[in-house]
Amino acid sequence: MTFLKNNLLVVTLGLFWLGACQPKSEPVVDPATETSSEVHIALGNPSNAQTDINSPTNYLIAKDEFVLSYNRDRGQANWVSWHLDNTWRGSAERQDDFRPDVDVPQEWYRVTQNDYRSSGFDRGHLCPSADRTHSTLVNSSTFVMTNMIPQAPANNRETWRFLEEYCRDLVDAGNELYIMAGGYGQGGTGSNGGVTNDIANGNVVVPAHTWKVILILPNGSDDIARITADTRVIAVDMPNAQSIANDWGQYRVSVDALEQVTGLDFFSKVSTNIQAALEAKVDDGPTR
Ligand code: MN
Ligand code: MN
Repeated sequence: MTFLKNNLLVVTLGLFWLGACQPKSEPVVDPATETSSEVHIALGNPSNAQTDINSPTNYLIAKDEFVLSYNRDRGQANWVSWHLDNTWRGSAERQDDFRPDVDVPQEWYRVTQNDYRSSGFDRGHLCPSADRTHSTLVNSSTFVMTNMIPQAPANNRETWRFLEEYCRDLVDAGNELYIMAGGYGQGGTGSNGGVTNDIANGNVVVPAHTWKVILILPNGSDDIARITADTRVIAVDMPNAQSIANDWGQYRVSVDALEQVTGLDFFSKVSTNIQAALEAKVDDGPTR
């Protein structure tokens, strides 16, 4: 279903693109999209999300470019998960085409590109635009509102961004990454000051914290089999507030600690012993 739907989308957008822009120099169907969305949750589905309308707070949306669990009642994802390696990166420009996600069931409120306006919070990407620059279509895929959380500008534009950039530096150094990110709790402080619990007429909760889990492997194949107790894992838990420090390293926590506050289970496809070892550690590696 997803394969069909995504290909229809690719064809539709491709025809539009052909009509709107100059032809030929770029392929209409992107090579990166030939890989299944399964790669993005190869290490596990952290909440056992299902694409089931009767599961409105844990609804699986699987795209070719990333996979997420949508929470209708929070107006945002519980988590977004994506694989990052150099095949996803290229020279496509940032598309900035923020829009409602048509993969959200029609019966539910679909957050719009205008819903964060004047809120004091950024439309903060979970899967970053700059992680998906292989083609125009791949970059555009990151601008659906299900990939956004209301993020305090100081968090989004500094601390969080520095960690995103560090991830891409790791890719440039010959690594591939499995990344999961989201927000939890309620009540953040944006550029308007005070504590904001929700925006968009109550349709979008403002998370109190933003979090991220990153597993790093040297480029290779058969990834799960290569994960050991020594594999580097970075987990962070940051305040969604203007008072945030810009050094992301000081927000490192164990995966166990994040599992406790989010209720998610990361790395469930990794063997129990290795999972336990990975999740107990707090990263102390370089931060740039
Ligand atoms: Mn951002
Ligand atoms: Mn786990």
